Amino acid sequence: MKIKIILIVLALIFSAACDKKKKGREWISHGDPAELVQGTNLNKGVATLPPGFDLDNLYLIDQTTIVSKSIRPTAEELYAEQAPKDRTSTVFVAAAENEILDAQRTQLTVSGGDAHVYKIDLVQSHSQLQINSVSKDGVTLNIQPEYSHLSLDSLTNQITFLFYWKDAEFIHLTRIYMGPRISANFQKTAEKFYYLMGKGVLVKWQKPVRFNVCGNFPDELQDSMQKGFNAWTPHLPASMFSLNSRASSTVCLPFSDLNFRGIYFVRNFRTSSGQNMFVPAAVLPAISTEIYDSDMFVFEREFLVMFGGEPAFTSLSGLFDYIEYRSEIRAYNDEPLYTVANKLMTQTMTHEFGHSFGLDHNFDGELSAMSYDDKTESDQLSTYDIQAIRALYK
Ligand SMILES: [Zn+2]
Repeated sequence: MKIKIILIVLALIFSAACDKKKKGREWISHGDPAELVQGTNLNKGVATLPPGFDLDNLYLIDQTTIVSKSIRPTAEELYAEQAPKDRTSTVFVAAAENEILDAQRTQLTVSGGDAHVYKIDLVQSHSQLQINSVSKDGVTLNIQPEYSHLSLDSLTNQITFLFYWKDAEFIHLTRIYMGPRISANFQKTAEKFYYLMGKGVLVKWQKPVRFNVCGNFPDELQDSMQKGFNAWTPHLPASMFSLNSRASSTVCLPFSDLNFRGIYFVRNFRTSSGQNMFVPAAVLPAISTEIYDSDMFVFEREFLVMFGGEPAFTSLSGLFDYIEYRSEIRAYNDEPLYTVANKLMTQTMTHEFGHSFGLDHNFDGELSAMSYDDKTESDQLSTYDIQAIRALYK
């Protein structure tokens, strides 16, 4: 087994923060995005419509599409995608027209998301609501219902649609997140810290959050996750966040579900180009005037490639057993690879939990778990990190 030099580790955020014109993003991947929902309890686009749920007053909160493309982006393109942009702090709302087609059918028109117009046909019978068909810019999408999911939150009157579709070239997984109209403008504070909606824009969770660990994580990753979580909790309101570290025996819902916050172990999906560049984990938040949802993906194959174990090993646990046993296998700084691998996993998880709680990247060169060149100890926060998270939840 060859030991590769670990050059760049990116911990990606699939940011839902809005920029000036768009409230939606397309993400390039190098694997089938169906991997992102595998092992979760998809409801095939059928859900119970809670009494009193209002389909008439829905506005777009966020639209994300993950696209599988065979053309790999260059490292520079990927980096540019992640670099902080000049974001507006005004909430952008896109109205959804609700057209009653007949007694059972409703059509939601969602425009303004990514300059495309989606029409979502819904069928209602008794208290069941179902995604019937979806078109984009007038073209009916070839939706695969087994990967569809519909989720409603009756308290907030929010709804999400997840659909998986293919066209001639690409495979897409689209999440459309809608809710009541919000017309607030964010007040920027003098804080110098980077948050998910921009520098100094304090947007946070408003209610207690439980993160559920889904999938068969190796023990090493599970430990790193707990350490990453524990790094932040002393600086967060007591019992605001909890980590259900053994949820794999329970039923896991997909990331698009409004009533579930998952941390998913994804086996085959890759998002980086693989040339000395690794995206071992990603956070997918949905934000408006508060953080409504945030789910995390941990990519086994990215770690496998990063630690030099691919193609010799097909699983991280197999690789961990091997490099723990063969302590003479050293990483670039002559430390045992097993030690370095554990440190990198914990750094990654600390970084991702930073996103989950509301922090964005800090590329200002300050010591931070939220930069890409973190020099802090793997489960330690810098002064910046502690000040930033305390300012957010003060
Ligand atoms: Zn990140």
